[in-house]
Amino acid sequence: MRSFLTLADLDVEDRTVLVRSDLNVPIENGRVTDDFRLRATSPTIALLRDAGAAVVVCSHLGRPGGRVDEELRMAPVASALSGIGGFPVASAVDTVGPDARDLVAQAEAGDVVLLENTRFHPGETTNEAGLAAALAELADLFVLDAFGSAHRAHASTAGVTDHLRSAAGPLLVRELEAFRTLMDDPPRPFTVLLGGAKVSDKLPLIRALLPAVDAMLVGGGMCFSLLAADGYEVGDSLVEPDYFDTLAEILRGELGDRLVLPVDIVAAGRFAPDATATTLDAASMGEDSMGLDIGPRTTERFAEVIAGSAAVFWNGPMGVFEWESFRSGTAAVAQAVAASNAFTVAGGGDSVAALRMLGRESDLDHLSTGGGAGLELLQGRVLPGVKALERWSR
Ligand code: AMP
Repeated sequence: MRSFLTLADLDVEDRTVLVRSDLNVPIENGRVTDDFRLRATSPTIALLRDAGAAVVVCSHLGRPGGRVDEELRMAPVASALSGIGGFPVASAVDTVGPDARDLVAQAEAGDVVLLENTRFHPGETTNEAGLAAALAELADLFVLDAFGSAHRAHASTAGVTDHLRSAAGPLLVRELEAFRTLMDDPPRPFTVLLGGAKVSDKLPLIRALLPAVDAMLVGGGMCFSLLAADGYEVGDSLVEPDYFDTLAEILRGELGDRLVLPVDIVAAGRFAPDATATTLDAASMGEDSMGLDIGPRTTERFAEVIAGSAAVFWNGPMGVFEWESFRSGTAAVAQAVAASNAFTVAGGGDSVAALRMLGRESDLDHLSTGGGAGLELLQGRVLPGVKALERWSR
């Protein structure tokens, strides 16, 4: 039994439906450079059109900080979404102002209107009642499809549910189901592969997940704080010394041997794309080495564990994968996850980007559109956006 309504519970014919999507995509020179999130949510919009709804879509884009930022307008997203969905998208120049209201008033069944960036309003992130009410006034029903934003109680994710009968969109439902499989009774062995820059970002997750996993493989910048806490010299690698004591406690604790750290490292003398890359044993790093990727023996070890797993969750790159010399670790684990027969889920922009770069995105059971939201679910938290939908289930 679900605790919220889904699209099947809404009668959308000849109604105006507000959809909160996650259209927060990278834009360079007025063009969308990665359309993964648009592809993921556009079927929801298509479904509503086909069912005879007028669809009003809203999303945030970047971090304009409550002010209009010309670089973060939704117009390029509107044209990319239209290209992907194969339907026209009318782009409003404001979110709840006269242009939005006019376009929505003129919209008929099957039309799609995209509102301007919700974060141009300071009331979005503070979940201000006035903004939520103004958004709700544009429509008859609300669909939350933005998994990537559902861990925030904002006006467009949670506030609008005060006013409109609300349901979860198909993308949100799919995301929640994938994470539920990992959390409730994961096939075993269950392996979690973590990377990314900062160990402080992932510390609550490490604590929460260690009891639930069989192995936790760690690469990326965050592995150096763990190696340092374990007594290794890590030179100039990225570290957060404030966390060494806590990490040492975890490593020496009862579950510490579930953590698998790199045995070799690709290091450089400086943080630059053209720095000379040298492979070193993790135990042989010098004072001036800077670890920027995991080494080939580590990659092989990680790949073996992944191949022997029945469930795998991956979040975060193994190194500075943006630079070719430090990409091998991330590319190799991406291949290993894609080739695995396990139930596989990847989340976070970089992991998904790496899989897409290799053309392996369709080889996973689930590619998540959310980074932070997935990590919060895995820590056992209820997402505020999902919680807000629950009032409509009764
Ligand atoms: P996050 O946002 O925490 O997922 O971190 C992603 C970023 O971590 C990417 O931009 C990577 O370049 C960076 N990163 C990964 N490994 C390292 C490393 N060893 N040193 C510095 N940065 C890293």
